[in-house]
Amino acid sequence: MNDSNPFPQAETIEQLRQNLASIRARIDQACVDAGRDPQEVRLLPVSKTHPADYLRLAYAAGCRMLGENKVQEAYQKWQELEDLGDLEWSVIGHLQTNKAKYVARFASEFHALDSVRLAQALNQRLEIEDRYLDVLVQINTSGEESKYGINPEQAPELIAQLGQFSRLRVRGLMTLAMNSEDQEAVRGCFRQLRELRDSLQKIAPAGMQLTELSMGMSGDFELAIAEGSTIVRVGQAIFGARSQPDSYYWPS
Ligand SMILES: *Cc1c(COP(=O)(O)O)cnc(C)c1O
Repeated sequence: MNDSNPFPQAETIEQLRQNLASIRARIDQACVDAGRDPQEVRLLPVSKTHPADYLRLAYAAGCRMLGENKVQEAYQKWQELEDLGDLEWSVIGHLQTNKAKYVARFASEFHALDSVRLAQALNQRLEIEDRYLDVLVQINTSGEESKYGINPEQAPELIAQLGQFSRLRVRGLMTLAMNSEDQEAVRGCFRQLRELRDSLQKIAPAGMQLTELSMGMSGDFELAIAEGSTIVRVGQAIFGARSQPDSYYWPS
């Protein structure tokens, strides 16, 4: 095994169990360090690029919800794994409006809502499917052009409009921090998301809770927890390094 690789491949159920337990232990410790209750933070394993058959091992290791950033890839895996009746799917990447119908059909959660138009398309499709969807609004906290999500200033207007969609349960906000070695800059993105959430809570439509902050990945989840994260999206630290270049930025 290559010592310089911080994310060795997990190939067995036992290795997956160990990785899940060790990430969970780090989450719990980060909560304790921040004076928070570990039960406030959910670990969402991100299984993108891994084939369905391999994900059966993750299921056997205890995963009951998996995160995917591309809807078509996720949809296909859902079909292949439909026999695992209690496995749920969280779509965490940008979605084109014309693909709302796929998310409406199978996903339990969607973390990258970024327009009223998309909300409307999802709501319509959810009515047809007679389903509901937990959604988070994606915010671009880093200001990087390559990243999806609305600008923080646009959030009050979007949140106000989301109250009209009865099939969407708006749960909170999501962000991807700046890709940087500068810990303070990364942490600043997370802090910004929490502060924005706190201010939106005061103006949110009646019944909308905005409790969730989906922030933190393999490389930065402890910083995110220090700033109030309630959902950490962790892929490589559980499953191993991905060989393909990352594609958070490309349309799915
Ligand atoms: C891939 C991905 C993650 C997980 O990143 P890792 O480095 O594998 O932990 C989190 N969020 C989004 C939106 C992603 O696309």
